[in-house]
Amino acid sequence: MKGIEDYIITIPDFPEEGVMFRDVTSVLQDEDGFRLAVDLMQKKLEGLEFDVIAGAESRGFFFAAPLAYNLHKPFVPVRKKGKLPRETVSIRYELEYDVAELEIHRDAIKPGQKVVLIDDLIATGGTNEAMIKLVESLGGEVIKAVFLMELAGLHGRERLKGYDVDAVITYP
Ligand code: 5GP
Repeated sequence: MKGIEDYIITIPDFPEEGVMFRDVTSVLQDEDGFRLAVDLMQKKLEGLEFDVIAGAESRGFFFAAPLAYNLHKPFVPVRKKGKLPRETVSIRYELEYDVAELEIHRDAIKPGQKVVLIDDLIATGGTNEAMIKLVESLGGEVIKAVFLMELAGLHGRERLKGYDVDAVITYP
């Protein structure tokens, strides 16, 4: 049987020189790979009590939506600026060479709700840190963040110290 690592294609020097890009579309485009990825992420949530699954645009949606469906929880998309039609809260955060802005609908999370965050990959942890701030600004409690992949060398876990961070596969 193939492991999840067998479905992930690594592309050197994408999107720029020196980056080893871990492609998630190679997982999605195989029916067994996609199912295995969702199943392995779901295992990380076994026994956990929570109210909401929030996913990061756009690659986080691929996994957050099926997990929310399987576990019968609400799915809350955290989107790039300007995409959500109703009242939002937003946060600006630094990327390596740029600034990004993420938004969430103000009514998507109620005070006291326990929230699980989902994304395909954690690198520096900047995206997830921004998601945590958004959820907490609405009074939600982030009880776990689950990723398909972790790039350990970029120390995202340290940035998210104090939070429960879990990944299916870790690259150095
Ligand atoms: P961070 O904010 O942790 O530095 O970067 C994580 C975000 O960038 C995630 O939303 C993820 O989709 C994207 N990302 C960064 N590097 C890669 C990569 O090698 N492969 C994939 N699939 N996504 C990446």
